[in-house]
Amino acid sequence: MGHWCRICDNNLPNEKFSGKGHRNHICKKCSQLPKKERERIERIDELRGFLSQSNISKKNIARLKHLVSLEDEDVAKFANIVLEVALAHPRKKKRLSFLKRERKDIIKKLKDSELLFWMEIDF
Ligand SMILES: [Zn+2]
Repeated sequence: MGHWCRICDNNLPNEKFSGKGHRNHICKKCSQLPKKERERIERIDELRGFLSQSNISKKNIARLKHLVSLEDEDVAKFANIVLEVALAHPRKKKRLSFLKRERKDIIKKLKDSELLFWMEIDF
């Protein structure tokens, strides 16, 4: 006995569905997706914003440390890289030349992530 979820395309036990979810064929887990996705997009936008600021402040760094701790792996991973950038060179001016010279490890992480694209860096 089970019930089909049209989002994850799984047959799941009835307890995985709420009353409304039964009718809509969306399991409890998938019914949470839109909000999570929205939050993820918002947080990744926030991270991109930090990189575009002329300076990443101490307050921003505190916020980054919070984002690193989130269970969303993509957000946490990106936040971790932005945090490393912020700690290495909080000011945007001459940041890239500094990182290229002194912190090739961070440059590599940026290259491996979509953050590089956000920074509009052409390697
Ligand atoms: Zn589902």
